[in-house]
Amino acid sequence: MTAPILILGTGLAGYNLAREIRKLDKSVPLALVSRDDAPFYSKPMLSNALAGGKSAATLVMKTAEQMAEELDARILARRQVVAIETAARRVTLDDGEVLPYRDLVLALGADPIRLPLDGDAATEVLSVNDLDDFARFSARLEGARRVAILGGGLIGCEFANDMLARGIGPSVFDPAPWPLGRLLPGEAGAFFRAGLEAAGVVFRMGISAVGVDRQGATYRLRLSDGSVAEADLVLSAVGLRPRIGLAEAAGIKVGRGIVTDRQLASSAAGVFAIGDCAEVAGLSLPFVMPIMQQVRALAKTLAGTPTAVSYPAMPVLVKTPALPTVVAPPPAGVAGEWVLTHPDGGLEALFLAADGSPAGFALLGSATRRKQALAASLPAWL
Ligand SMILES: Cc1cc2nc3c(=O)[nH]c(=O)nc-3n(C[C@H](O)[C@H](O)[C@H](O)COP(=O)(O)OP(=O)(O)OC[C@H]3O[C@@H](n4cnc5c(N)ncnc54)[C@H](O)[C@@H]3O)c2cc1C
Repeated sequence: MTAPILILGTGLAGYNLAREIRKLDKSVPLALVSRDDAPFYSKPMLSNALAGGKSAATLVMKTAEQMAEELDARILARRQVVAIETAARRVTLDDGEVLPYRDLVLALGADPIRLPLDGDAATEVLSVNDLDDFARFSARLEGARRVAILGGGLIGCEFANDMLARGIGPSVFDPAPWPLGRLLPGEAGAFFRAGLEAAGVVFRMGISAVGVDRQGATYRLRLSDGSVAEADLVLSAVGLRPRIGLAEAAGIKVGRGIVTDRQLASSAAGVFAIGDCAEVAGLSLPFVMPIMQQVRALAKTLAGTPTAVSYPAMPVLVKTPALPTVVAPPPAGVAGEWVLTHPDGGLEALFLAADGSPAGFALLGSATRRKQALAASLPAWL
């Protein structure tokens, strides 16, 4: 039997690639491996599931069995890949099974970064990056009144906003001076903060957590300014690190992510990388729209037409209904300045490059209406 196209990972990258492959080729053997149950679900919904009344079970759109049928693919769930041998074109699973491949696609995602906290409850700090995490988080949220969120970036702010639906006014701790610090200029950060605070979120900016101790049924959070805060649950949302370990151990070139060219090809013949684990032409973009661009290009390449991925500017919607926000940060290294206006009570922050052309934006409140028009004015990212 011919060796399959083997996809490691059944997140949005792995499954959407499989779907694109099947649009082009109904018969090529296809296999996917996942260390979780391999459900098809929309990961972005993890941070607005509470408001939508969703549970880990109802977030599942299709089971592994349904996906196997839809894709006419072998799906190996709850199996972990432990080694890749690029010369022999095969991978080894945790139970010793060896899978040969024609082409291998690494769609392994990213791990939540763990803060170096001390204290006897440091290991009880939660993070939510998949359905199993969400199931644990929602179980622990039952009866919780005081929630501390570490990290005031996109994901931390989305979870904070979502908890309002449960009548919880969470406290967000971050060493940065304003929330969404890497995406917004200061004045826009203050505007965003005010919008969420008006709805019930508490921001403790300029402060980081140092340690977490158990205190009866609750936690005592020690903070960098010497103060303490009590919480029934501590959620960490301080960023993600691409899963590069397997690739690195196999001698595949890695940087921040698994390094690929514009055809998503890694340094090893027949091995490709997509999604949160990949660093494509120098860009690590852990969002859904880049994944969709990647899988369309890679499916064509795997079907015999080498195709480079292109990225238009891809704005990200911050799911904070208390203050709807859309961001399209300027590409790293572009010099310029933010210009702010206040149309209809919202805020529009436009990043103008040195030559006066728009290179990025942040739109808050009513200004989000201009999202499409402004996105069209931005230069392509790749
Ligand atoms: C809470 C939250 C909200 C988000 N909201 C948005 C949003 O609004 N808009 C947006 O654009 N993006 C959003 N994102 C980002 C977006 O969801 C991700 O970029 C995307 O889902 C990543 O998909 P992936 O397939 O690369 O990774 P993952 O979904 O993490 O999949 C990784 C897969 O690899 C498997 N795996 C890992 N290691 C192994 C191994 N050794 N052996 C076998 N299998 C393995 C896992 O089991 C899993 O199937 C959000 C992310 C989070 C966490």
